[in-house]
Amino acid sequence: MQHFIDLILPIPIQKTFTYSVTEAEYEFLKRGMRVAVSFGKTKMYTGLVFRIHQNPPELYEAKEILQILDEKPIVNEQQLKHWEWISNYYMCALGDVYRAALPSAFLLESETVIYKNQAFQNEEILDDEEFLIFEALQHQSQLTVFQISDILGKKKVLPIINELIQKAAIYIKEEIYEQYKPKLVKYVRLSAQYNDESYLEPLLEELSRAKKQREAVLSYFQLTTSKKPIKAKDLEEKSEVSAAVIKALVDKEIFEFYHIQTDRISYQGDTNALKELNEYQEKALEEIKTSFEEKDVTLIHGITSSGKTEVYTKLIQEVLDSGKQVLFLLPEIALTTQIITRLQNYFGNQISVFHSKYSINERVEVWNNVLDYKPKAQIILGARSSIFLPFSNLGLIVVDEEHETSYKQFEPSPRYNARDAAIVLAHMHKSKILLGSATPSLESYFNAQENKYGFVELKRRFGNVQLPTIELVDIKEKHRKREMNGHFSDVLLKQIREALDEKEQVILFQNRRGFSPIVECKTCGVSPQCPNCDVSLTFHKFKNELRCHYCNYQRAMPNSCGACGSNQLDTKGFGTEQIELELKELFPDHVIGRMDLDTTRGKYGYQKIIGAFEAREIDILVGTQMLSKGLDFDNVSLVGILNADTMLNFPDFRAHERAFQLMVQVSGRAGRSQKRGRVMIQTYNPYHQILQQVSTTDYTAMYKEQLQDRWQFHYPPYYRLIKITLKHKDYQKVDAGINWMAKALQNIFHEHVLGPSAPAVSRIRNQYIKNLVVKIPPKQSLGKTKQQINKIKNTFQAVADFRPIRFIIDVDAY
Ligand code: ADP
Ligand code: ZN
Ligand code: ZN
Repeated sequence: MQHFIDLILPIPIQKTFTYSVTEAEYEFLKRGMRVAVSFGKTKMYTGLVFRIHQNPPELYEAKEILQILDEKPIVNEQQLKHWEWISNYYMCALGDVYRAALPSAFLLESETVIYKNQAFQNEEILDDEEFLIFEALQHQSQLTVFQISDILGKKKVLPIINELIQKAAIYIKEEIYEQYKPKLVKYVRLSAQYNDESYLEPLLEELSRAKKQREAVLSYFQLTTSKKPIKAKDLEEKSEVSAAVIKALVDKEIFEFYHIQTDRISYQGDTNALKELNEYQEKALEEIKTSFEEKDVTLIHGITSSGKTEVYTKLIQEVLDSGKQVLFLLPEIALTTQIITRLQNYFGNQISVFHSKYSINERVEVWNNVLDYKPKAQIILGARSSIFLPFSNLGLIVVDEEHETSYKQFEPSPRYNARDAAIVLAHMHKSKILLGSATPSLESYFNAQENKYGFVELKRRFGNVQLPTIELVDIKEKHRKREMNGHFSDVLLKQIREALDEKEQVILFQNRRGFSPIVECKTCGVSPQCPNCDVSLTFHKFKNELRCHYCNYQRAMPNSCGACGSNQLDTKGFGTEQIELELKELFPDHVIGRMDLDTTRGKYGYQKIIGAFEAREIDILVGTQMLSKGLDFDNVSLVGILNADTMLNFPDFRAHERAFQLMVQVSGRAGRSQKRGRVMIQTYNPYHQILQQVSTTDYTAMYKEQLQDRWQFHYPPYYRLIKITLKHKDYQKVDAGINWMAKALQNIFHEHVLGPSAPAVSRIRNQYIKNLVVKIPPKQSLGKTKQQINKIKNTFQAVADFRPIRFIIDVDAY
């Protein structure tokens, strides 16, 4: 009898691959274990066992596997089921989901590039083969898995590399370490032969001429009285000898070193009791619980600063008490450090944070902790990719700021929405899921109105603080009356001055970074464009550079026009840099801070700025939409939005909904403590309905009006959208391809095909882009529609001319 396994490979191919295994392997293997295999002529991949069976493949001869990498499954049944759902729903390969789900250290392959960890010191913990590799990395800055095979003269090297990663001696590419925190702490103990008190005398005798070594041994015995393991560092300190002395004793085989794993990612600090809820929060909590008796999904619409987070914490506590895990999803971890700190204050070491900016080893650690259901993995805080962790016992998922677009992954595949995938995940775990927002997405609010989701409201700010007053400033009028100073209206400036006089802080919002998005020649009207993209370059004054915000191309700002040579260059439009500079002139005695993509790079970029603003070292903070993400500052009395119009004029069916959400969220940063806050919104178009709705914080009015548009123009939540994008560096090819696709789709879906059209930026990184959108009416079968699209896609890709075109399918596209 032959034995086979089907593997998911981390490549964008629809099918699993069958490999042959021995009977013993067949008995040992389980779904969710990793296996190293060769693929094609030269490649090696880490595959995941998906099926175990005895049916040889019909179309090819099954190869043997190279080796088994796990003792037990590292991916559980619920995950595999969830992955299958994602792959079907989002029309992507299971291999894409697998690659997205696992930390890359679990996916070693022939092409993986390995580097030495420069901070690694504990060479003595490496065995011979590990040391050989480590030493090779002293001479060569990087090695591939292939080269390591050569060095060791064998094929089966992945376990050795795995071990080196575990010991933090090496790391793999795409990992940028800002800081290395050692995982292994070095301890000392007496060698077994001296482990009897009676040896002490002769030992000290023997060391009588090595004074320092004698001192170290004596101190060692003093430290042992505490009965705790003794750190090498502590012994050095206690006996006041150097590391070399201890090392000498190890060489004499009197002492030996050993290591205990300590977790890199643990919370140090005391925890506090949960806050008492006020009556409104209490009521909301009860309503959520009642709602959960009937419905798995509940939406809480709570205005900014109503105390949603405190309500979550009570629910979390109850779920923990019932012995289950909690997943707390946040839109962007880096931007939400305040919430993380708050939750850590309550739950301390029961929390693990899963962070894409963490090192690979840290991510592996969180994975393993969740897999083994360790005490510190009872609550997982994370951004969208944390839905892929190996939960086994979920009782609650909280999706905070559920309306945030960053829950949707655009690139690469799988293009999933973590909020929606989390709802499915909750269902598989028979867990409850709470969506929370001050400005819910139209989709979620609609589902609540239709009674698909439970619905709870929290309409008062905590402590009865009033919502800020929101004023619209007509800057067309202000320009006409010459009451503008740069980009500031006189009324906004007056409010800023007053706030500063009261020692209060100000937040100013401008949804564009850089100095100005367009540079234009006054003589001939030409403006510098990105050579790789169809977009003009943004001027960054601090670095005197022109930059492309799509491909990161940059060059020095020219002195004269590239087309006509005139040196009269003008700038059009403005970004955060320009506002910062104007403020510095207007308020030379105050500290101005800026928070945008350019000032927050690096692991701690945001924390530094947020920390400085919290500590009131910054008086005015200028920033992009980063400012809208749930920040809680108690001394901000004024929020200014410099130009609301760019958000409203965006060519996208969600633009109005998003503009509303953004402005309400930014406004919510004002007046979170006792005094009522103020918001001033500058616009050329104060009668725009969205601005009217923002100024009264009237979510329902916005909802009703937008919903009507969505109905009329066939958009979500009524119709579903599947977007098809083609990309290629040859414009003719893309054009021919998209026209073919359009015809094929129109044959089946008729008027429900939108396009072909080019996006606002129609070429990025030298790739031309064209889109088609298939709209799916409420009653039409989603499954069947997807099948039909897949069939057309297969035919398309069978045409030799079209094969090189990049084909992207985005389900529920944003
Ligand atoms: P939201 O998440 O709805 O914007 P938060 O949970 O951040 O609101 O609450 C706003 C502020 O009110 C925070 O500073 C929080 O500490 C405080 N707060 C909320 N609920 C309570 C409570 N029950 N007791 C004490 N302070 C509270
Ligand atoms: Zn010119
Ligand atoms: Zn570019």
